[in-house]
Amino acid sequence: MNPSTPKNQPLSGNAMPRFGGLASMLRLPVVSSAEGLDVAFIGVPLDIGTSHRPGARFGPRQIRAESALIRPYNMATGAAPFDTLQVADLGDVPINTYSLTKSLTIISDFYEQVLRANCTPLTLGGDHTIALPILRAMAAQHGPVALVHVDAHADVNDEMFGEPVAHGTPFRRAVEENLLDCHKVFQIGLRGSGYAADDFDWPRAQGFTLVPAHEIWYQSLAPLMARVRERIGNTPCYLSFDIDGIDPAYAGGTGTPEIGGLSVPQALEIIRGCHGLNLVGCDLVEVSPPYDLSGNTALLGANLLFEMLCVLPGVLRR
Ligand code: MN
Ligand code: MN
Repeated sequence: MNPSTPKNQPLSGNAMPRFGGLASMLRLPVVSSAEGLDVAFIGVPLDIGTSHRPGARFGPRQIRAESALIRPYNMATGAAPFDTLQVADLGDVPINTYSLTKSLTIISDFYEQVLRANCTPLTLGGDHTIALPILRAMAAQHGPVALVHVDAHADVNDEMFGEPVAHGTPFRRAVEENLLDCHKVFQIGLRGSGYAADDFDWPRAQGFTLVPAHEIWYQSLAPLMARVRERIGNTPCYLSFDIDGIDPAYAGGTGTPEIGGLSVPQALEIIRGCHGLNLVGCDLVEVSPPYDLSGNTALLGANLLFEMLCVLPGVLRR
């Protein structure tokens, strides 16, 4: 992107009331191609990979609606993403809601095109199944990537109901397909009951670093993120954020809630702690609006996506 090209700006709340106009992500222009963009918000309205409560198909639309309150400057970090990056809303991936298999191909083809345009995708999910086709596109472009994965669940099941592809299996498949730099994978916020006592042995055996929620209760996560940055270095890194990593008190609108989760300030510390990483893409998944009529979960998701935008390479801090 030519630095002198005028950058898209979120529609101001002083130009159109925040409750008016079309609900694009952060009130940015909606475009049909990633060409010329540095960053694209992309919705993936898929929830046919869920195992319990559905509804994440409505996540992108509700996150966009709740994003209308977000203003362009990050007052805590000084980040000014729209000063230097060309950002837009690329709309939704037209998944096939009757076929998970076909949807995977549709998603990976879509993301390959986005990455070929040198555009960084920030994804509004959708259930966590979508991380697999996105990581396939990432690895095709960058080779195996480092991963910061926030979640109550490790999502490394071998199968669910006999199916190899579901929202609890993406990172098992990603390892098998050599999409991850396994010694640069961090899973943060894990908790809850398991299928077997050794559920977490497999990811550890692959080289993943697991950070269970109970080990970080009441703590600042700034020291953890310093370790994450040191280990990952400049390796292309993907951030996958399952909203159920956060406690259901703050994010109850999700499909498989687990008690005793991360606080919202800890979530902010994780994302802000990614500043300096070579982030090549991020997602925010598993927001299920029908289970949170207050809209709080989607509001949180929208803000976390803004925070992700604020730590991308090339964002200046004022
Ligand atoms: Mn997950
Ligand atoms: Mn989860």
